[in-house]
Amino acid sequence: MWFSLFLAAAAVVMASTAAAPGTPVVRSVTPPVDHGEGCYWDDRTQVLYFVDIAGELVNRYNPATGQVTNIHFEGGGVSLVVPVAGSLDELVVTRGHDVLLVRWDGKSAEPESVKVIISVEADKPGNRFNDGKADTTGRLWLGTMGPEPVPGDVTPNQGSLYSVDTNSDNVVTHLSPVSVSNGLIWSHDDKFMYYIDSPTEHVDVFDYDIVTGDISNRRTVFDLTSNNITGVPDGMTIDANDNLWVAVFNGAKVLNVNPRTGELLRVVDIPADRVTDVVFGGSDLSTLYVTTSRYGLSDDEVAQQPLAGTVFEVTGLGVRGVAGHTAIRSVPPQ
Ligand code: CA
Repeated sequence: MWFSLFLAAAAVVMASTAAAPGTPVVRSVTPPVDHGEGCYWDDRTQVLYFVDIAGELVNRYNPATGQVTNIHFEGGGVSLVVPVAGSLDELVVTRGHDVLLVRWDGKSAEPESVKVIISVEADKPGNRFNDGKADTTGRLWLGTMGPEPVPGDVTPNQGSLYSVDTNSDNVVTHLSPVSVSNGLIWSHDDKFMYYIDSPTEHVDVFDYDIVTGDISNRRTVFDLTSNNITGVPDGMTIDANDNLWVAVFNGAKVLNVNPRTGELLRVVDIPADRVTDVVFGGSDLSTLYVTTSRYGLSDDEVAQQPLAGTVFEVTGLGVRGVAGHTAIRSVPPQ
């Protein structure tokens, strides 16, 4: 385990802070990590959690102080972090094939406790968990992806999409195979679940039954290829208008899409090619936080995009998000 404390004093402003209303301002706010991903805004504590998959870190960024604290995990990529409902120091974290329950005060060099509560795909040692979120009931959805022998080159059709009851530790398999299970988010009425399997280059939607957790009637709401957009869709969130915000890996941008019409509403350029995830945060949920990666970039590419791997904040968008959901866990860690 190791610990580091960063100050974002070197934050770089990427656009004029005097920009006109509605013109986004993009600003790097953290030092770079290797593969930033999996961002979660904790509206209760006003901090941003994000992971470094390759660096096996859970990071905690406090915008009020500019500080980043983190904890390190051994044994596989760390792909998501979701706080536990009713607790300010418990997190659900995925590492490799495992779902972990972690107790951490957000400051110490090491977590107080780490317990494996669920493991999947023991027959596929090269697979690992990837993106995921909790729905409004606290049911956790998360998917896996196949081996990645070369960064960015994932063996297709090896993964699955699951939901998990983190109280009973029951696991339900919903889709198999998938290739790189990634962004997912729900409409405000819980009637639709949007989903990205990245190599499809689609954003898809399912009808969602919030009571049973069943998904059905998959169809595509946005196709990057037919919209002449370079890159693949990665993480995703939704705003208060029920419009999607989609990170584009190898595309240096975030897309704002109306999923009811398929209309591309807006494109926000990010000064890093590998844009991985997005979430709204800040005191009024009007700041879009964007994680990026430098994993697999050559030294020359890093020199050309030195902010790759940092977290960016985008302000001035003129929209607000909605607070993320926590995972339900009544069984304390041991
Ligand atoms: Ca991702």
